[in-house]
Amino acid sequence: MDFGLTAEQAALRERVETFCSAHCTEEHAAALDRASRYPVELHRALAESGLLGWCLPAAYGGAGGSPIDACIINERLGRCSSAATNLLFINGVSAALIALAGSEAQKEEYVRGVAEGRLRFAFALTEPGAGSDAAAIDGDAYVMQGTKLYTTGALDADYILTVVRTRPEGKASRGTSLLIVPRTAPGLAVAPLEKIAGNCIASCRVEYDGVRVDAGQRLGPEDGAWSILMIGAGLERLTVAASSVGLARAVLEEVTAHVTTREQFGQPVSRFQAVQHQLADIATEIDAMELLTYRAAWMAAQGMARPKEISMAKLYCSERLSEIVLRGMRLLGGGAYFTETPMPRRVREAMLALYAGGTVEIQRNTIAKSLGL
Ligand SMILES: Cc1cc2nc3c(=O)[nH]c(=O)nc-3n(C[C@H](O)[C@H](O)[C@H](O)COP(=O)(O)OP(=O)(O)OC[C@H]3O[C@@H](n4cnc5c(N)ncnc54)[C@H](O)[C@@H]3O)c2cc1C
Repeated sequence: MDFGLTAEQAALRERVETFCSAHCTEEHAAALDRASRYPVELHRALAESGLLGWCLPAAYGGAGGSPIDACIINERLGRCSSAATNLLFINGVSAALIALAGSEAQKEEYVRGVAEGRLRFAFALTEPGAGSDAAAIDGDAYVMQGTKLYTTGALDADYILTVVRTRPEGKASRGTSLLIVPRTAPGLAVAPLEKIAGNCIASCRVEYDGVRVDAGQRLGPEDGAWSILMIGAGLERLTVAASSVGLARAVLEEVTAHVTTREQFGQPVSRFQAVQHQLADIATEIDAMELLTYRAAWMAAQGMARPKEISMAKLYCSERLSEIVLRGMRLLGGGAYFTETPMPRRVREAMLALYAGGTVEIQRNTIAKSLGL
């Protein structure tokens, strides 16, 4: 059993560290938190550094990175910038699915476009009423009718990778398809919805009113998107888990620095055992988060990805993170209530991990199913 990084993985971590020092400082994160404009500069920098396409195939402009590489990148970026991890997710996962199931022409166009930072993607699955969005075939085109919710990045995307029912009757797992829909397609309307955090990458309501896309824009087989979506869900859950580890570590560092310098009753507050025990618990929980995440990533890298281990990582990381930010806020004292400090932003950003990639209840359902329940 080997818990260390290879020389290549250590070099990648260094590379992300260098990137963060230049593009994801606390000042950048605070400015993006106040912005409602898409972070074009950050997107360009991620593409130019190679990190945006790191886990895409080398044949289409990526670096062929592994799921462990994806976790290394998301963990380090997650320490300081939820904008960076969100941006990486909406573009990287969409492109990874195209790399997995796309035609040669689709890979050349879209995967390369994302890796080079020329094309932006959003991924639309969630709906106001599950299973409502249908696409009927008309000649050699699909005609789409319905609504998607919370589609992150849709406002600024070139394409929205959209999940549709192509066989409305029967199980969704046997009648779902994926369509690569141009954001400017006639009949498509995008409206941003204000969030508690991350408004620089708008999450949107997307209306499809008779939107037509050529059959050549379908990704993978008709009615056969389910297995592709399951792989996408696994990738998303892993990256959410890894970025949660990063954010939790940022909280631990900030709190440790505070309690060792802040004095009360004639001594640093870190001398109080009650404070020490809280930090000991947080540190232990973060290590457990990290171990679950990298175990799942390691399994995926060996071709042994299983929903159980991935859901365990996502479940544990998202729940611990939401507790750690609140405990961290208390340990920082009243100063952490003020928006000029990083902590209120971290608390708001941390809550996304509870939903992204499916709620904690859905993860528990997956784990229970794997136990034969
Ligand atoms: C900021 C943000 C960005 C997002 N970006 C995107 C995006 O880019 N693309 C996209 O497609 N989606 C996106 N989502 C949607 C996100 O994936 C969903 O919100 C999440 O999967 C939950 O689905 P829902 O909102 O429909 O909740 P619901 O499914 O309606 O769930 C409501 C409650 O019921 C519980 N519940 C539902 N079903 C079960 C069950 N079977 N067993 C037990 N409990 C259950 C849930 O856990 C939850 O507590 C985003 C969400 C947020 C908050």
